[in-house]
Amino acid sequence: MAASKCNRLCGPLIRELLDSVESVLFDCDGVIWRGDQAIPGAPEVINLLKKNGKRVFFVTNNSTKTRKMYADKLASLGFNATEEEVFGTAYCSAMYLKSIPHLKGKVYLIGSNAMKQELQSVGIEQVGAGPDPINGVQSDWANVPLDPDVKAVVVGFDEHFSYMKLNRAMQYLSNPECLLVGTNTDTRLPLEGGKAVPGTGCLLKAVETAAQRKAQVVGKPSHFMFDCVASQYGLDPAKTLMVGDRLDTDILLGTNCGLKTLLTLTGVSTVADAKEHQQSGCPKRLGMVPDYFVETIAELLPALQG
Ligand code: PLP
Ligand code: CA
Repeated sequence: MAASKCNRLCGPLIRELLDSVESVLFDCDGVIWRGDQAIPGAPEVINLLKKNGKRVFFVTNNSTKTRKMYADKLASLGFNATEEEVFGTAYCSAMYLKSIPHLKGKVYLIGSNAMKQELQSVGIEQVGAGPDPINGVQSDWANVPLDPDVKAVVVGFDEHFSYMKLNRAMQYLSNPECLLVGTNTDTRLPLEGGKAVPGTGCLLKAVETAAQRKAQVVGKPSHFMFDCVASQYGLDPAKTLMVGDRLDTDILLGTNCGLKTLLTLTGVSTVADAKEHQQSGCPKRLGMVPDYFVETIAELLPALQG
């Protein structure tokens, strides 16, 4: 019920909530770390949850790292975590493509080296990683050389994104059989000091606009992201908690998949944003109202230590 949502998680409620779940999914940026710094207390919370028998997973829309790179980053910040607990959109996109039976071919990749590696590790060949130089004159560009084996265009975060990549993606997608897959739709990546840079959502929108097609999105709030974890570990949604800092990705994913949801205020969204959605009465926006909120996940510590 909407009225019983968006409660501050404190006192005995914390233990009650933790006792009611077997698994906890943590978003990464804005929840357990900010950039390259752990949120104070976050490693202790995760390590204690595990000690208390909870299964913990890391679910991030950031497509710039492989599972191995995330495991290394987690270890360097003091988190007790394995590669198999990490579900980033580079890995999940590879899993998504792998799950399509008729996709026998290559991918045209707008994305990072990490995405290239995750695709390769499930046996999918890619073309396109790295810069795409502009060749010839404008009148040639609609006839840019294409690889006939490409069966899907995949768009993730790509610092080499360019007009020519956009053009090449559009030419591939002029074949209606060619799939369009996006890692995530986050439009802005927040930085310290209130600054931000364009996120993958901007690149994906550009490709969708050029191709006049809608992408299949793998990342949060898409159900696929949860299915990816649930199918490997047999999670019971009713006994799973999603912890995130964004209402439109993390909390909506939780609602879409029937999970319990906890908003933490160390990242993007505020309680005022959540209350606005709650008061709107709009069914679509109610999915972005969390069950609970905390200032920081460090507030879970006393219940875990006791
Ligand atoms: N995409 C990119 C490229 C990022 O750098 C980030 C955050 O650093 C995100 C997405 C959002 O990641 P998360 O889902 O962990 O908040
Ligand atoms: Ca986040």
